[in-house]
Amino acid sequence: MPDCIFCKIAAGEIPSNKAYEDDDVLAFHDVNPQAPVHLLIIPKAHVAAGAAEITSENSALVGHCFEVAAKLAKELHLEGFRIVTNNGAAAGQTVPHLHFHLLAGRDLTLHLG
Ligand code: AMP
Repeated sequence: MPDCIFCKIAAGEIPSNKAYEDDDVLAFHDVNPQAPVHLLIIPKAHVAAGAAEITSENSALVGHCFEVAAKLAKELHLEGFRIVTNNGAAAGQTVPHLHFHLLAGRDLTLHLG
């Protein structure tokens, strides 16, 4: 997708601090980390702008992203971690290329309800 920063990172046209890479998925360190560990896990292909566009056609890649998250969590010995995806500007999404934030290394306790 032209003008997509994550497509350019996936293609190596923009440098990134990579944590994991295979043919289909890339994980790299967020340039503006919100936790001591803050990785972004992306399908290399621009299969969806965000979670609202996940379908049976692209969900295998979503599963693949979560497999990579589990692998990285194990390798980095993360005791607890959070996986977040923002969908749409109202949720704070700034890059419309499906991605998952993997956060760890600080208190992430959420009080829901
Ligand atoms: P979101 O706001 O959920 O769309 O997440 C986009 C994330 O991409 C933000 O946390 C940014 O800090 C991060 N980001 C933007 N540009 C880069 C870049 N060139 N390298 C690494 N992370 C980036």
